[in-house]
Amino acid sequence: MIYNKIESANREDIEKIQLNRLKDVVKRVYNLTPFYKDKFDEMGITPDDIQSLDDIQKLPFTKKQDLRNNYPFGLFTVPMSEVVRIHSSSGTTGKPTVVGYTAHDMDVWNEVITRCFYMADMTSKDIVHNGYGYGLFTGGLGFHEAAQKMGATIIPASGGFTQRQLMLMKDFGATILCATPSFALHLAEIARKEGPEFRKEYQVRAGFFGAEPTSEGLRKEVAKVWDIDYYEVYGLSEIIGPGVSCSCNKGLGLHINEDHFYPEIIDPKTGEVLPDGEEGELVLTTITKQALPIIRYRTGDITKLHREPCACGRTFVRMESVIGRADDMLIVNGVNVFPSQVEHVIANTEGVTINYQIIVDKKGYLDKLGIVIEVDDSIEFNDVERVEKIKKELQHSLLNNLYINAVVNLVESKSIERSMGKAQRIIDKRK
Ligand SMILES: [Zn+2]
Repeated sequence: MIYNKIESANREDIEKIQLNRLKDVVKRVYNLTPFYKDKFDEMGITPDDIQSLDDIQKLPFTKKQDLRNNYPFGLFTVPMSEVVRIHSSSGTTGKPTVVGYTAHDMDVWNEVITRCFYMADMTSKDIVHNGYGYGLFTGGLGFHEAAQKMGATIIPASGGFTQRQLMLMKDFGATILCATPSFALHLAEIARKEGPEFRKEYQVRAGFFGAEPTSEGLRKEVAKVWDIDYYEVYGLSEIIGPGVSCSCNKGLGLHINEDHFYPEIIDPKTGEVLPDGEEGELVLTTITKQALPIIRYRTGDITKLHREPCACGRTFVRMESVIGRADDMLIVNGVNVFPSQVEHVIANTEGVTINYQIIVDKKGYLDKLGIVIEVDDSIEFNDVERVEKIKKELQHSLLNNLYINAVVNLVESKSIERSMGKAQRIIDKRK
């Protein structure tokens, strides 16, 4: 089901809407925020310079630090009397980033999440178990309000209390699960202790997963253990929260709600815009936000855009699942390595789990990459020959696929330390 016909409109109509909205938002930030006014003046541009969508490239980027520098409400373009909701990042170091919503912004947010729900044909009959954290984080309340608005039954479970959550999912007959993929996997790990037939006790049929970078391996694993349709939701609080884009399961990638969020892919080093299909950093401009409109926000997420028609009928551009963060990228002996690419290789190897750790160290002048991976339950750890064979296979595919020479170390299942189902993925000893 498609929620809004704009999602399947033709390119010309979409671009017309985008250009009108872009012009409006540029005027809005120029007239209402000293930050953008100064930036535009410095660059010698005015809102009149925006006459086509490509003119967006004349505009300055906005970075996370710009939000921090204008803490808390310096980039808002409405008086506080019009702001109905505030969210904020956790801000472990320094000031958090603060975002605000008007009633109109809340409607947009609910709508884009509802569009995600429609990907899974969700209706008011569904019971939604929401395992995203509530509070200032946008995950919990974002999904909550949209599900409630469409008349589904929402269970605000929030994070933690795994045993209790499983009991509620079972007893309340949840049909939809919303959670981070690693929490979904953690839930399954505990549920499995009930015995191999555990799945029969649950009615869950689909899930909306996001809020952390995931590999294809992790997504497949969650879909498999829960035996559900996996929908990937992408978003970030600076833009709106979850709902910027969502996978449709009919074609590769996630449809970006581009009537609200205008996407570009840039070279993270030079800032230059790259053509469709090339990998780079995703940059988003909010073209309908009122409280906190953002121009060319550098998300830090590495992905690609595709514009070929999708089997689902939607014409919105698709982004591939984020392969990593521009700042998470490891450079090992001059080769760019994203942890998710390593995870992809591991996920396509028999006999191992996707619980792994990447350890980078220096030996003399050279970088040394080690990967510790847990074997799965089908492997007898004493079977040295088998274990050696898997090790060789992994080293071989890492070299062939990623051009990295890694020392692979296999360990017994559950021996890598983890918290909330998540192991610390990268240990960089070079620093
Ligand atoms: Zn599609």
